[in-house]
Amino acid sequence: MQFAEFAARASEMEAEPADLATVALVRDLFRESGKELDTVARFVQGRVFPAWDSTTLDIGPRLLREALARAAERNVTADDVEERLAEEGEIGAVAAGYDFGGQRGLAAFSGGDGGGSLTVREVDETLRELAAATGAGSEDRKLNTLFGLFNRASPEEARFLARLVLGEMRIGVGEGTVRDAIAEAFLVDGTERPAEADDENVEERRDGAEEGEEPAVRAADEHLAAVERALQVSNDYGMVAVMAREVGIEGLRAVRLDVGRPVQAMLAQAGTVTDALDEWGEVAVERKFDGARVQVHAGGGAGGGTDDASVSVFSRNMDDVTDALPEIAEFVAERVDVPLILDGEVVAVDDDGSPLPFQEVLRRFRRKHDVDRMREEVRLELHAFDCLHADGEDLLDAPVTERHARLAETLPADAVSDLLISDDEEEIAAFETDSLDAGHEGIMLKNPDSTYSPGDRGKNWLKRKPDVETVDLAVTGAEWGEGRRANHLGTFLLSARTDEGGKGDGKGGEGDGTGYATIGKVATGITDEKLAELSELLEPEIASEDGQTVELNPAVVFEVGYEEIQRSPTYSSGYALRFPRFVAVREDKDAEDADSLERIERLAESQ
Ligand code: AMP
Repeated sequence: MQFAEFAARASEMEAEPADLATVALVRDLFRESGKELDTVARFVQGRVFPAWDSTTLDIGPRLLREALARAAERNVTADDVEERLAEEGEIGAVAAGYDFGGQRGLAAFSGGDGGGSLTVREVDETLRELAAATGAGSEDRKLNTLFGLFNRASPEEARFLARLVLGEMRIGVGEGTVRDAIAEAFLVDGTERPAEADDENVEERRDGAEEGEEPAVRAADEHLAAVERALQVSNDYGMVAVMAREVGIEGLRAVRLDVGRPVQAMLAQAGTVTDALDEWGEVAVERKFDGARVQVHAGGGAGGGTDDASVSVFSRNMDDVTDALPEIAEFVAERVDVPLILDGEVVAVDDDGSPLPFQEVLRRFRRKHDVDRMREEVRLELHAFDCLHADGEDLLDAPVTERHARLAETLPADAVSDLLISDDEEEIAAFETDSLDAGHEGIMLKNPDSTYSPGDRGKNWLKRKPDVETVDLAVTGAEWGEGRRANHLGTFLLSARTDEGGKGDGKGGEGDGTGYATIGKVATGITDEKLAELSELLEPEIASEDGQTVELNPAVVFEVGYEEIQRSPTYSSGYALRFPRFVAVREDKDAEDADSLERIERLAESQ
């Protein structure tokens, strides 16, 4: 395909305001792209390399301005180009404003020819060569080569060439557009409905079509899903477009992960334990590490042995950061002997192994020089929490629990994040306390049955939101602990003050209407040390005992965090705190200063 043809199509896309019509333009371009389909599918998004590849052209705006100046009419300088850029605001418009081709230079392939002779392939190959140029004189070589390209470009070609060089096409073709266009171009025949799709699945697109024009058939959900999936797994629009054309929907579904080629990270939304339990019944709970995301690929290539050279570490943006984090690659290489893709967090730690703020990790990630010195200064630890591929098997479609089990089989335990599967709020709260005590950020809640969907910020991974409100409640009962905690009171019964509440008249107890109404129990958020302290504080208030259960005179007030207040018959107040956690003893408050039931009612209503 001629580059002029590509540029003409890109112009049409740029001028087209309607999304559906843009998809149709991209679809038609793809259908006509022939051997250059992979390149064209990247070019429409301003990319020369696939998204997973961290190679860049490394051509800055300054070099581009110089190349434009050299290719433009005599006497144009890089400063002139800059001035025009300030006026036009966009490099494509500036490039299109010059009359290229009058200059002859060493690197001009054929002298100026007014445009039209460049092919898409040639542009692609030339830009790839530019990207590979390094070392002494590479700037000059890049300048010469760029000059050569522009010298052969028509104004319209120059517009898109300049934008391509800077990686921004500005033609309104985003990832979704390309996905739809691939599906429409190759998975759906323009005139027939796909045989396997039923009527509901196929929307006929009449809105974008002119009167009398044959309506195009829109890709069905399953086509889009297949393209989307292949894109998530491969991060290569060019490859996926070609596969859609050559091997169709089944071929796309069969696209596999490649050890060494990063995938987009699955992301999390904010959510609550309450939501998670209501939605899934059981929750997979992990520590939330305060570091930087990494995806580690080990043992790629035939044979799959693991040596240092076969381990790559990628950042959340899929940049290759192996050189900046050599100990992570070494750690994995030493311990892993099957091909593996793991997802995790790298955390900076102090000499005692306690986590340091995540800014410390970032110092390591950005580091290009002095890596060895930095390695001494900022110690790093890997906490792996997911496994996308192990020993030849892709695990994206396996549930959290299975992926975690594979991780635990493959990596030593100290590098694998703890996983708690629980349907018990108290157990989850205890896990959270433990995580916070260990210096981590909190907890992550995952749907235990969910698959790994790359790039997705869905509802299957939740980062627990910190509590917005706390309440101050009187402690009116407790239970003696068990085992290690047998001599301490634990599991504290909490009560709100009722109208009858007042100094000296409260005896507590469930539903006795003597001034305090129970609303929940808190057992967690309390360290052993704190528990001993609380026992000492509360034992003098014991009013009666029945087996392990004690009734306490209301005297001590706890500040308690919660996620939700629910109506509940379990407690005498008619309400229950969900996910209550101990925050502190309110030393400054007496029981009669505890929050009133009225406030609890108001909080419940305002949720
Ligand atoms: P945020 O950056 O606040 O959106 O939280 C999501 C991020 O938490 C993820 O992208 C990870 O980098 C990080 N994270 C820490 N621990 C975990 C974990 N156990 N599972 C998933 N992500 C985690």
